[in-house]
Amino acid sequence: MSEPSVFTRILNGEIPGEFVYKDDLVFAIRDINPIAPTHILIIPREPLVSVNDLDEAKEHIAGRMLVVAAKLAKEMGIDSSGYRLVINTGPDGGQEVMHLHMHLLGGRKMRGLG
Ligand code: AMP
Repeated sequence: MSEPSVFTRILNGEIPGEFVYKDDLVFAIRDINPIAPTHILIIPREPLVSVNDLDEAKEHIAGRMLVVAAKLAKEMGIDSSGYRLVINTGPDGGQEVMHLHMHLLGGRKMRGLG
């Protein structure tokens, strides 16, 4: 068994995290190193490594991640101004934490795609 990810450890209360949302499938925390005024990570409870682990059986998790992003964008007051959803995947995608997560970025104008 591989070591639990930093996100699983936050979910389990082993290390601190600032939760903004939790349900039966996903949770959301503030990014520890925000690159925008609103920078939230939406994370499945199940420790899927990346988008590569998604298939038809996991569609409900992928769908929930998007629905929660929309809900949190409204709550954070960035739904009208706009925001960016980012899922880094693998080495070329710049993924650092090997537990699937979606960045919700807003509160400033985003430029370029990296
Ligand atoms: P990624 O490059 O998509 O894997 O991004 C991982 C993100 O996790 C980065 O934006 C980090 O700042 C964030 N991160 C890493 N450790 C923590 C932590 N303990 N609490 C909150 N966010 C974290």
